[in-house]
Amino acid sequence: MYGFLSYFSIFADAKFSGMKDIRIGNGYDVHALADGLPLFLCGVRIESPTGCVAHSDGDVAIHSLCDALLGALALGDIGKHFPDTSEEFRGIDSKILLCRTMGMVASAGYRVGNADITIAMQRPKLAPYILRMRNTLAEIMGTDASQVSVKATTTERLGFVGRGEGCEAYTSVLLIKD
Ligand code: MG
Repeated sequence: MYGFLSYFSIFADAKFSGMKDIRIGNGYDVHALADGLPLFLCGVRIESPTGCVAHSDGDVAIHSLCDALLGALALGDIGKHFPDTSEEFRGIDSKILLCRTMGMVASAGYRVGNADITIAMQRPKLAPYILRMRNTLAEIMGTDASQVSVKATTTERLGFVGRGEGCEAYTSVLLIKD
């Protein structure tokens, strides 16, 4: 019943009946943690005895989000656009990197449908910061906070995250062209 001809006719119907152009992207980042450094996640300063070792402010969550946005557009990665060998980006607030990445999204004619970020970190507990993180990212991306999910998990003390040596972030994002 659903042979090739049927498949292509269904696809053609969808294409010409106003189905939106959508793109999906995923991003991943990791940073080492060290004592006495400031910790920023999703643009929010987190009270923590350790922070990310980085050329920028080390916001691992925003970096994974930028990589997901760039990936959705097949524009390469964050290292290509904001190289960690450049003095321009030394200590830079990662919210600025997200702003610039959103400029590329807008230039390509897309807007964010939704973003889903998972941060893997053994400590501190991030629950008290989640709402501020979502609001901060939504404001930069020109979306509602209901379109931005931020989740936090430990790794049950397993691996480098569990030992507190580093943290990771994973992001999925959907872009829509109206
Ligand atoms: Mg990074």
